[in-house]
Amino acid sequence: MNEAVSAKNPSLARRRWQRWGIGCLRLSVILAAMLCLWCKPVSESIDLEAYLALGKEVYPTAQKLGETSDGWHALLTADGDLLGWVTTTNPQARQVQGYAGPSELAIVADAQHRVKRVQFWRSADTAGHVEKVRRDQRFWTQWDGRAEASLGLYENPQLVSGASLTSEAMARGLAARFGATGMEQLFARELSIDEVKPWFATASNLIQKEGCYEVRDGEKLLGMVLRSSRMAVAVRGFNGSSDVLVALDADDAKVLGVAVRESRENEPYLTDVKDELQYAHGFAEASIEQIIGTADHTDLLLVSGASTTARSVFGTVQEMLRRHTREQQSTAFPWRISLGMVWLSAGVWLGFRGGKKSRAVFACCSVVAGLGLGWMVGQDQLIGWGQHGWKTLPALPLLVMTAIALIIPAFTGKNVYCSRICPHGAAQTLAGMAWKKRWALPARVHRIFSAVPWLSLLAIWALALAGSRLPFAHAEPFEVWSTGFVALLPAVVFTMSIVVSFFLPQGYCHYGCPTGALLKFLTHAPGRWTRRDSIAASLVAVAWLVTLF
Ligand code: SF4
Repeated sequence: MNEAVSAKNPSLARRRWQRWGIGCLRLSVILAAMLCLWCKPVSESIDLEAYLALGKEVYPTAQKLGETSDGWHALLTADGDLLGWVTTTNPQARQVQGYAGPSELAIVADAQHRVKRVQFWRSADTAGHVEKVRRDQRFWTQWDGRAEASLGLYENPQLVSGASLTSEAMARGLAARFGATGMEQLFARELSIDEVKPWFATASNLIQKEGCYEVRDGEKLLGMVLRSSRMAVAVRGFNGSSDVLVALDADDAKVLGVAVRESRENEPYLTDVKDELQYAHGFAEASIEQIIGTADHTDLLLVSGASTTARSVFGTVQEMLRRHTREQQSTAFPWRISLGMVWLSAGVWLGFRGGKKSRAVFACCSVVAGLGLGWMVGQDQLIGWGQHGWKTLPALPLLVMTAIALIIPAFTGKNVYCSRICPHGAAQTLAGMAWKKRWALPARVHRIFSAVPWLSLLAIWALALAGSRLPFAHAEPFEVWSTGFVALLPAVVFTMSIVVSFFLPQGYCHYGCPTGALLKFLTHAPGRWTRRDSIAASLVAVAWLVTLF
């Protein structure tokens, strides 16, 4: 019908092509900015001022940096006397990934290369986990006084509970900087066929899958071996986690046995637990459900005098089986993702067809989905994809959500993400409905505050394009939906935006949200090239020129 109308009315068809053409150009501007981040050479240029500032915190009489030696920069007094040395863990630490990316630490040492201070420098890891590590003084002081020669030994580092993968990646990165090899992988040694023979005597080959190995005798499937370090399960004992194996029968119902391959735990506790597993066979023939449902580890793994190590191994086994069971359930039918997709589809449909009546009901759905799934679109994510490339692209649902947020407004002029889907927008909608009293800012104040989202969007992208590695997730409240109130800044923005929205409807959306500004950029003046487009295109062109030359 519409085609027929367009065919009869050339100006309508022309307008549609104009709208699509401008939509394509606007999306291209955003893509070009992300591509520019990706093409930006990873700067190894060293911030000498920051090095000196750090050096001065430890040695207040330090006035300048001197010669460099093996990556260390000399800290000198005004007279040129050597006080100490300063360095960071990159580039060696860059291959060591935490939850979401690598981290870099800075180290200040005295003149004899003994550590005076280890300090956080920057990180591409999840901001909430990084924040937990930054607050843990015991983590940062564990290297104090150690000689440089011992820093390459990776032995039982003090990790941070609740951020073990991030803190472990930082500790491994530091060891890598001082010569340790294989730090990019936790428990790097590969599993051999001999290690599974106690459970599968006729095993002839291992086929590696995600987090586990299929054990076969020729073509015949004998069973499966789960491996904790490949499932990212790390339950800490006294000194660290262990690389635990859990053997399952071919029906995937019973546990044949459990073994600890390597561990950060202390002797003799570790040997006691290994011996118990090897000779007492406490787990053998237990069903997966039985092990998951066991509250007291001593029912299956009783090791007197090594209860902390035994508890951590038992906790590791339980978590491995829980995840394995969840994966099995997820291969049966991905309920969580499917419900998420239904939510997104309903949001898009209501964005075009829904009336006011559906607003409150769907806002509740979006808040529940936000709390349950944690899916959000934010600047940190777009910048991260640009900086770290396709390898860091998330699972399909988040990609679909981002496509909905960006592509639909560009081509239709309708911002369905903000109007229906965004959980933070939905929470503000509900808060606004709960309170009858409304404020409206005076026209002049409204005009001034309306510039804030645009300015923050500009500032975030300018900093990212200038090579800043600031945690951009802190500029928005969205991380709180997935990690909770961990990082201070997102927690403050989150709380303030919800409180304000009781009185000032969608206050944060109108006067604070950079992602909202980006989406407004896509929807403003459909089919018309405006001053905003010229500014955005010029800024991205300048960024490209700076990157290329
Ligand atoms: S403006 Fe920001 S907070 Fe508001 S709905 Fe849009 S993305 Fe969400």
